[in-house]
Amino acid sequence: MYKVEINNVSLLFKDSEKEFLALDKVSLKIEEGEFVCIIGPSGCGKSTLISLVAGLNFPTEGEIYIDGKTVTGAGTNRGMVFQHYSLFLWLTAKKNVSFGIKQANLFKDKKQIDERAAEFLEKVGLEEYADKYPYQLSGGMQQRIAIARTLAMDTEILLMDEPFGAVDPKNRLALQDLTVNLCKKCEDRKAVVFVTHDIDEAIFLADRIVFMEPKKIKEQIKVGFTKNIARDQVLRTPEYMEVRNRLMNLFYEDIGNRIGGEEVVI
Ligand code: ADP
Ligand code: MG
Repeated sequence: MYKVEINNVSLLFKDSEKEFLALDKVSLKIEEGEFVCIIGPSGCGKSTLISLVAGLNFPTEGEIYIDGKTVTGAGTNRGMVFQHYSLFLWLTAKKNVSFGIKQANLFKDKKQIDERAAEFLEKVGLEEYADKYPYQLSGGMQQRIAIARTLAMDTEILLMDEPFGAVDPKNRLALQDLTVNLCKKCEDRKAVVFVTHDIDEAIFLADRIVFMEPKKIKEQIKVGFTKNIARDQVLRTPEYMEVRNRLMNLFYEDIGNRIGGEEVVI
């Protein structure tokens, strides 16, 4: 049985004036503990797909299963980080993280909840900002708190939609390392669906990269070779260059298709 199974899923957005097919018969199977990165041009349906797995929307055709059971809504077995930070504006940074921990039912005891919230604020480098409200923090800081909140929930499945897009480069690298440590190097590896625009980020994080074109999956690439190798070594492997070139070509093919010609000079 797969941890997540997306089976022939289509999604038609409809309002009174028009219809738009955002996903067309997409199938994707994710094993327990597998880290899958979804990459592809803007508007191809990445956020739509991940929101279906989160149970925030429903397919118009096909099924999504988690542990063999049809998804009927959001659930505490899935943690989600959204593309745009989504903190509770009336709660401090620490209370935002505590809220997630309470939702996940990890602890009942307030002291334990407080300690875990402090631990995860420290992991994202924001322990000094525990008592600040979102409006007192930059966009990148708010996103790091949203990430701390979701990671602290320790869910079996993590759904992350361009989570590091608003974060500065130094903290982005630190968050990538943190994600690897919490999701891949821990005893109970998590199943992760991680949407990113960044080719290097996808290669560093993923066991498998899923490249999407509008409405569909175009290609899947296994990248297990990054396991147990330090970041600077990954960059020197021939496999890294091979995967990188393949992904660059897929993006260029997409640009070529959109401007309607084969010969694109970049
Ligand atoms: P991505 O995350 O890959 O950039 P999205 O999944 O957000 O793309 O969107 C895929 C397509 O579906 C886009 O063309 C977008 O305009 C369209 N879309 C997304 N949400 C809606 C909606 N609620 N109603 C109509 N169209 C939508
Ligand atoms: Mg998106």
